[in-house]
Amino acid sequence: MVRDFFVRFWGVRGSIPCPGPETLRYGGNTSCVEVRFNEHLLIFDAGSGLKRLGDVLTLPSPHPFYLFFSHTHLDHIYGLPFFAPVYHPTTQIQVWAGHLAEGQDLRSVVHRIIAHPFFPVDPEAMSAQLSFHDFRAGDSLQLIEGLTIRTAPLHHPGGATGYRVEAGGRSVCYITDTEHRHDGIDQAILDLVRGTDILIYDSTYTDEEYPRFVGWGHSTWQEGVRLAKAAQARMLVTFHHDPTHDDDFLDQVQAEMDIALPGARVAREGMVLRL
Ligand SMILES: [Zn+2]
Ligand SMILES: [Zn+2]
Repeated sequence: MVRDFFVRFWGVRGSIPCPGPETLRYGGNTSCVEVRFNEHLLIFDAGSGLKRLGDVLTLPSPHPFYLFFSHTHLDHIYGLPFFAPVYHPTTQIQVWAGHLAEGQDLRSVVHRIIAHPFFPVDPEAMSAQLSFHDFRAGDSLQLIEGLTIRTAPLHHPGGATGYRVEAGGRSVCYITDTEHRHDGIDQAILDLVRGTDILIYDSTYTDEEYPRFVGWGHSTWQEGVRLAKAAQARMLVTFHHDPTHDDDFLDQVQAEMDIALPGARVAREGMVLRL
């Protein structure tokens, strides 16, 4: 039964944090989205936004925390060693990823980054009960009663995973770090997000900027509009903003989206959307 189901944004940027007076309103942290389902906490990506989420959680938690990676590029993972619960011995944290190639595994990837010469302490310093889980993008995950997670592969260098979290007939999709196709809508993504209530979508660039960044693995807000219309999504939320897009720029995107797709929103830190 769904008693409580909402999404909260802790980091909405791509690439690198960009704090400063010109990004105060939309926020400067990199990707981190919280999904609450009843008493359960699901986290999508461990960008720099993860730190503040960790600071407000009540510990110990009677339930495990679930952390899902879209992929493990630095802007999605460097918040993990600054997430306070990883140093809390009785906290259970399940970490999941579906993009790694044969012969790679999530534990090794995380342990490679949280180690010398990139980090001052060994991964063993993370004293929480951490478990690492690899799956294949396209799998469905049934981890919590009443809640289903479906996934699909995204189009990104090194791979990435898109997620659909569904409970009680309501759903939110987290689709970031994907480059759109040039010959129409990406069918795998369309199938995943069809009819969703909230579609969070990689909108790093505008259509005008995109030709300079072909091959970087990102999309545009205009493609988000096209996808949301094709999928009949109830609400589009543009996400993974380029660090050069300041508040005024994103206000302009919002104004253009108000015309192109009424109800669509530019993601900003602290924004909460109920399902
Ligand atoms: Zn990214
Ligand atoms: Zn990436």
